[in-house]
This record gives sequence, C-alpha cells and structure tokens, in this order.
Amino acid sequence: MNQSGPDMRVVELIMALRSAGIVDKAVLGALERIPRDVFVTSEFTRRAYENRALPIACGQTISQPFVVAMMTEALCLTPRLRVLEVGTGSGYQCAILSLLARRVYTIERYRTLMKAAEERFDRLRLRNIVTRLGDGMLGWPEQGEFDRILVTAGTKECPPALLSQLCEGGLLVAPIGPPEGQFVTVFRRDGDVFHQRQVAPVRFVPLIAGIASAL
Ligand code: SAH
Repeated sequence: MNQSGPDMRVVELIMALRSAGIVDKAVLGALERIPRDVFVTSEFTRRAYENRALPIACGQTISQPFVVAMMTEALCLTPRLRVLEVGTGSGYQCAILSLLARRVYTIERYRTLMKAAEERFDRLRLRNIVTRLGDGMLGWPEQGEFDRILVTAGTKECPPALLSQLCEGGLLVAPIGPPEGQFVTVFRRDGDVFHQRQVAPVRFVPLIAGIASAL
C-alpha cells in the first residue's frame, strides 16, 4: 500500500469532521491518532476512513466518525475523568475516549466483540481501558460513580441504573428514542434532577438487556 495513502485519508476525514461542525481540538486530535482501519474487518479496511458507519461482527456496527466525534465532544472530557462506555462494539469509540480521559470502563454483551476489541487495545498499547462482558444496562456498580457515561446503542429511555451511577455534576450521553431513530441526548446530574439537552438525530443499533447467549 502507498505509504502516504492512509495519512491523506485521515487528513480528509478530519477536514470533513471540521466542516461538519466539530471544533474541539482534543477530540479531532484523538480521531487523528487512532487508526480506524485497526477496528474494522479486512474486507472494510479500504473504507475505514470514510465518514460512515460500517458493519462489524455479530450484526453490529462501528459508528460513523462524525457521530463518534460529536458524542465525544458532548462529553466535555478532561484528563482526570473516569468514563463508563456501554457498548464496546469494535472498541473504536473506547480507544478515542482512552486518549482523553484518565480511565475508561467499557461493557459489551457479545464475547466475540469484546475479545476482538481487547486485542486491538493491546496492539495499540492503550493501557487505561478496563473491559467487562456483561449487561451494560446495569452499569458497573462495583466501580462506584462515574464522571461521564456514554451509551453507544439506541434506547427508548435511559436505563435508571446508569443515571444512578453518574456523579454529581456528571454528564451522560446516549442515543434516546425508538429503533427507527434517536436523538443524542446529554443528561447532566444536579442532585436528584437530570437536566436534558438534545444534540442531534442519529440511528444506532438497539441496546438489548442481558449477555448475548450466542457467540
Ligand atoms: N462503540 C462502538 C459501537 C457499538 S454498536 C464502536 O465504536 O464500535 C453498539 C454495541 O452495543 C454493540 O456491540 C452491541 O452488542 C452493544 N450492546 C447492546 N446492548 C448492550 C448491553 N445491554 N450491554 C452491553 N453492550 C450492549
């Protein structure tokens, strides 16, 4: 492969994200540094830097780079924060978070996806990620409260367990709405009150309760 090839594709992707309205330099820098081709299967390597969602194993998808950037921006991350991600999938979004936060806890319900994501984290030497096979709707209560929570699967309502594991002043970002389409919604905890703000329309695969029995 032409050595300048992938780099030009990354440059073009970053330019596309900027013209789509992503302004946070740290977020753009993280998307520039994490090689998306590592997170797709070989048949899609060629298309890894297109601004599109792509299929991954188990009938799931790796999110569109614009959506990853937009949701990451909405989390307002700083280097000292602990983040919970629900829906590891390919691990791409998690890898981006790992460059911007202190530690990322990520939960996936498919063993196959979890294993593949763990191998990618190892390969890229991302050492501040903790993985768990389980039902992310229940959160990760043993880890206490999180500064930020990101849900990367669509759900009609935010699972209450996740809201309860958000620290005071913390932000939770999730695609809220029916399977046909959701709104990226930001919840901010203010005591027992959760202020909500809708950011943009999206379409995610559904959040499903329980560990996947197959695979
Ligand atoms: N963040 C991913 C996108 C994942 S797609 C990436 O960057 O590639 C959504 C993922 O959420 C799928 O892998 C799906 O299996 C997972 N998921 C759905 N419901 C879940 C649940 N209750 N707990 C954990 N993971 C779940």
